[in-house]
Amino acid sequence: MSPRRPLVSGNWKMHLTHLEAIQVVQKLSYALERGPQGAVEVSVHPAFTALRSVQTVLDADEISVALGAQDVHWEDSGPWTGEVSPVMLAKLGVRYVIVGHSERRQHLGETDGWVNRKLRATLRAGMTPICCVGETAEQRDAGRTEEVVVGQLHAALAGVEPAEAARLVVAYEPIWAIGTGRTATPADAQAVAAALRVAVGERWGPDAAGGVRIQYGGSVNERNAADLVGQPDVDGALVGGASLDPVAFAAVVAAARPR
Ligand code: PEP
Repeated sequence: MSPRRPLVSGNWKMHLTHLEAIQVVQKLSYALERGPQGAVEVSVHPAFTALRSVQTVLDADEISVALGAQDVHWEDSGPWTGEVSPVMLAKLGVRYVIVGHSERRQHLGETDGWVNRKLRATLRAGMTPICCVGETAEQRDAGRTEEVVVGQLHAALAGVEPAEAARLVVAYEPIWAIGTGRTATPADAQAVAAALRVAVGERWGPDAAGGVRIQYGGSVNERNAADLVGQPDVDGALVGGASLDPVAFAAVVAAARPR
């Protein structure tokens, strides 16, 4: 069995007001209690406006779900209108921060350089980045998947120490699979996760390669999760759409339990 504890993360994107988010996390807590627990770590990533409310519910009810954010700025404070700093997130009890999600790279101009700054700022604040990498359909068709994702990985992790690399989470998210209902085959997810792990090992050493957790993301649901997350180099899932339904999300968590 893998020494890495699987992490299943719910990316709520720009859904759920803070009141709706409270309801979803309460229902999720109930759904998780009826399923297998402990072996799988769970995080939820509400919009910034709901972080405080969700954190309060998680703390008050002692729910074993980690609080996550969907993005962060790289400066601790300053004249950056509309941005949220790593210090602010850490103070709220945020443990995981998604960096470099393809929706931000594609639609909001996020560059590899920004992703690297955000990732290092997240580590500096004592939180764990979930670093997203993934290829477009055209890049996959051209046989460039591994070259693209390993290139994104190196750019995002530039300047990171081996011990920091060991506690990172990398999410392999083929862009053509996000929100489309199409998923990579389990074999493809495994092949790319293995290539990412090899790349981590070559640059940051065997301990980092053994420690880094690699999630698969892209239309994961309660029906396909077991096959995807059951792959030896896949250590959990980053879940968008299905994470808005607490029962479906709890089923994905159950499917990620090591066998
Ligand atoms: C995501 O938002 O990272 C994602 C994988 O979304 P979905 O599960 O909806 O494809």
